[in-house]
Amino acid sequence: MSARRRLVVANWKMHKTPKEGAAFAEEILRRRVPEGVDVALAPAFPALESVGRVLAGTRVLLAAQDVFREASGAFTGEVSAEMLSELEVALVLVGHSERRRGRGERGEELAEKMRRLAENGIAPLYCVGETLEEREAGRTDEVLARQMAALDGFAEPPPGLALAYEPVWAIGTGRAASPAMAGEAHAALRRLLEGRIGRAAAKATRILYGGPGPPANARALFGQEELDGALVGGASLQTPRLAALPRAAQGPE
Ligand code: PEP
Repeated sequence: MSARRRLVVANWKMHKTPKEGAAFAEEILRRRVPEGVDVALAPAFPALESVGRVLAGTRVLLAAQDVFREASGAFTGEVSAEMLSELEVALVLVGHSERRRGRGERGEELAEKMRRLAENGIAPLYCVGETLEEREAGRTDEVLARQMAALDGFAEPPPGLALAYEPVWAIGTGRAASPAMAGEAHAALRRLLEGRIGRAAAKATRILYGGPGPPANARALFGQEELDGALVGGASLQTPRLAALPRAAQGPE
């Protein structure tokens, strides 16, 4: 197993009210979060405060699902990195496939979001991945390279940067990449990272798999050398399913 600490991120999407989120966080804390594995919960914005209160002072991190590209100003409905920082958000998803598809987010906008996070000491979880059409056309590597170009303008990698490889055809569809497919994409991403941020920083960067595979095939996925954790949506909404993932990520006891 690599020296990188494994990380499991629960993306609740537009599920769980502030009260439901807080109750869920309490339940997760009652179950054992194994040593050596980081876990983060990413509620919707209105639940950040109540979930954050439960998680304060514990080993489970608070994450957010998005952030706005500007620092502040007349942007109705948007949420800034500074606001998230005051709520002690440690990690923020950037470029989730549902936002790339639904909101047309890409390139420079995503780089701006990562800059705002870096200015506020928050780690980005930068999500990349190809559509089914792109995979079938043999364009996976080209698509990943284009998405990774969002990191080109950084003199230093954003502090705490982690990547999530989410094959878009797997998100919300119940289809999962095979462990070998995920392993190949993760290795390609690490090479792309090396070219941008250097070998040592690339080696230290966690690359998570995003998709519905875990927990069913979690052990096989976590057996892949380049796979450092999981970003899960649907499977993170029930405590037993979510709690199984850090245990699988920890590897054999
Ligand atoms: C996700 O949103 O990152 C994800 C993996 O979703 P789901 O598990 O619901 O496919």
